[in-house]
Amino acid sequence: MNWNEDGTTAWLDKNESPYSLPPAPREELRELLCSLDFNRYPDPDCRAVKRMLSERTGVPEQCIFVGNGSDEILQYLFLSYLNRGSRRLVRLYPSFTEYQRLARVFSADERKVPLTLEADRFHVDYAALLDVIAGNSPDLVLIDNPNNPTGLSIDCGQLEELADLSPCPVVVDEAYAEFASSSMLDRFSLQQKNMLILRTLSKAWGMAGLRLGYAVGPPDLIADLEAVRSPYNVGGLTQSVAGIALSYQEWMESRVYSVRYLRKQFIDTVNRISGFRAFPSEANFTLVRSSVPEQVLDEACSSASVALRRVDDLPWEGTWRRVAVGREEEMRRVLDVFQGLSEQSERRQTQERLEISA
Ligand code: PMP
Repeated sequence: MNWNEDGTTAWLDKNESPYSLPPAPREELRELLCSLDFNRYPDPDCRAVKRMLSERTGVPEQCIFVGNGSDEILQYLFLSYLNRGSRRLVRLYPSFTEYQRLARVFSADERKVPLTLEADRFHVDYAALLDVIAGNSPDLVLIDNPNNPTGLSIDCGQLEELADLSPCPVVVDEAYAEFASSSMLDRFSLQQKNMLILRTLSKAWGMAGLRLGYAVGPPDLIADLEAVRSPYNVGGLTQSVAGIALSYQEWMESRVYSVRYLRKQFIDTVNRISGFRAFPSEANFTLVRSSVPEQVLDEACSSASVALRRVDDLPWEGTWRRVAVGREEEMRRVLDVFQGLSEQSERRQTQERLEISA
C-alpha cells in the first residue's frame, strides 16, 4: 500500500528506504493478521521484540527500551531530562529538525555546536563540543551520528570519551548507523555508564510506516525512560510485525549494501555536474549544494515529479537539498534534473558573455 497514493513521484525527501518487505514476510504477515486478538491489550513490556533485539545485538534485554518510533523515545528523553530545572540541551547545528522542535515544546535552553565546512567536507569541532559540555552543565547531550542532514559521522572513540567526560547522559542517535562504517551499538558495553544509543526500524529495515524504535543503554538510564513511558506505547500489531521483520536480517543487509552502492554512484555522478556538489555521507542520503536559485530548483524537481528535502537554515551560502538514496531509476531522475539545470545555467552564461562582447 502506498500511503500517499501517488505512484509516480520519487519520494526522496524523508530518508525512507525504497525497498518494502519481500514476499516471504508478507505471507507471514497475512497469517499473523488473522491470528491476532485485537480485544486484548498488547504486551506493555514488548518482551518478544526485546528478546529478538537482544539476540540480534548481543545487548541484554534489561538494557533495551522500545518505543513507537525513535521520535517517541526522543520525547521521553525530553520528558526525563529537560522538563524541569535548567533544561539545558547540547546538540550539533545543523542536526535532526525534531530536536529543535522538541526543544521549543519543552522550552529547553539550547547550546548548539556548529559543524564546520572546510575543503568541501563537513567537520565537527570536537574541542568546541567538549568545551560547550564542560562550560554549560547540560542536562542532556544529543548527537545524531550520522548527522542529519549532512551525513557526517563522528568517530566512536571520541563519542566514548565525550560520554565519559559529560556530567549528563549523552544520547547517540544512530537512526542511520546501518549505512555507516562503524557504530556505537557494535561497541556497546555495560562499562559505558553515560550513553544511550537510539536505533530505528524506519531506515535500513524499511519499516518507517510501522513506527518502531529502540534505545540501548545502562539499566539506570533505561529506567529513566521507563518512568515516563505510556503503558501501551507500542501496539500489538507493531510488536508482532517487528518480530517478523527482524527475522529477515540478511534481506535488510543486502538492501543496505545496495543503498551504499547507489549512494556512491550518485555522489560521484553529481560531482561531475558543473555547479552541483554532493557531500560524502555515511547515511542513506546526501546533502547537495548548488548555485541554482531555490525556486528554479523547486520547479524543475516538481515537473520531474521528484521530491527532495529543502534545507534552508544552513549557515553556508548556496541552495541546499537533502537527497535520500532511492532506487536506481529515481536517482537517475534526480541526476537528469541537476544535469538539465546545469546546462541551462551554462547556456545562460554563454548568452550573457556574447551580449557583453557584442
Ligand atoms: N533520528 C534521526 C536522526 C532521524 O533523522 C529520524 C527520522 N528522520 C529519526 C530519529 C526518527 O525516526 P523514527 O521513524 O524511528 O521516529
